[in-house]
Amino acid sequence: MGKVRKPSSRLDGIAPYDPKYLPAEVSVSANESPYAVPEEVGRAISERLGALDLNRYPDPLASELRQMIAQANGLEPGNVMIGNGGDELLFNLALAWGGPQRTFLNFPPTFSVYEMNARLTGTDVVNVPRKEGFAIDEDAALARIARGDIDFTVVTSPNNPSGDIASQEFIVSMLKASDALVLVDEAYSEYARTSMLPYLKQYDNLAILRTFSKAYRLAGVRIGYLLASEEVITQFTKVRQPYSVDAMAQSVACAVFENRVLFEPAIDEAIEQRGWLYDELNAIPGITAFPSHANYLLFEVPDAGSVWDALYARGVLVRDFSRTPGLEGMLRVSVGAPYENRAFIEALRSIVEERSDA
Ligand SMILES: *Cc1c(COP(=O)(O)O)cnc(C)c1O
Repeated sequence: MGKVRKPSSRLDGIAPYDPKYLPAEVSVSANESPYAVPEEVGRAISERLGALDLNRYPDPLASELRQMIAQANGLEPGNVMIGNGGDELLFNLALAWGGPQRTFLNFPPTFSVYEMNARLTGTDVVNVPRKEGFAIDEDAALARIARGDIDFTVVTSPNNPSGDIASQEFIVSMLKASDALVLVDEAYSEYARTSMLPYLKQYDNLAILRTFSKAYRLAGVRIGYLLASEEVITQFTKVRQPYSVDAMAQSVACAVFENRVLFEPAIDEAIEQRGWLYDELNAIPGITAFPSHANYLLFEVPDAGSVWDALYARGVLVRDFSRTPGLEGMLRVSVGAPYENRAFIEALRSIVEERSDA
């Protein structure tokens, strides 16, 4: 017949995830670190990679890395699951806690991957929209979860793309309000210097997601991890692809984690540069930047779509959210190296000035 029948109806209306990567001189669109790993860490990585037996399957649970991460967080290896990026663990969350006749509580605007995973797994999505300024509507969220039909929820702190953090008291109230699994996505927690880790032993329904892609400069390697009760981690081991975390990624992540203290100065720099960018953005007439605890800033600018084009024409790639519901008129810029941040501000200022002259 030469034709192919339709795929699952769950794919109806779903567009492939498109990060809109384009080559650019100043690439500040994906919240990556602007820097490669420190040289010393690069050498440790090469050494480890050279010693690998690539003809053998990797350790499925990445025991060495798992042990290191457990110890550093005062936990047991059974409280840690390593994934092929945080994204794999988010998908596994939907596989394990979602599915038909199950319900996910979402707080848009937030990371779009959560809702996509819910739809792909046939999970019902309940949206409690954020308030003006992007804080979670805590009363509405608590009232909704207390009804008892929510199977899992994700609280992103700092939130992507708005940069605000969720209050820990609120998260604790969510944990107490029902037995729903509450995943706190801490992909950017290094830049906020805050974590729900101290609550992990107390609440079996708390899970924390972290990644090596942002502060630890390994977006190209694909390593993330989940911290949770043994009961939750056991469920994740049932749905995971056995060899999704390859041997090279495990080795690279071990070398980075052992040397994690070397990553602190660049985290401090990003926090300092974030403050500089916030002030500079808000000093440009017509622009409003939102306060951020992460390594990016969301800002509102008149004619955002065409400002994105004009920035790109000047070699600066930012993320365009101007057509995303709840984020109309907004762009997101990642904190880059200081020279990149200056180039971005200069480009944006001249674009806005040209327009006000016209
Ligand atoms: C970047 C990011 C992740 C994880 O990314 P990976 O590269 O897959 O580890 C998770 N959540 C949020 C909100 C992110 O921005």
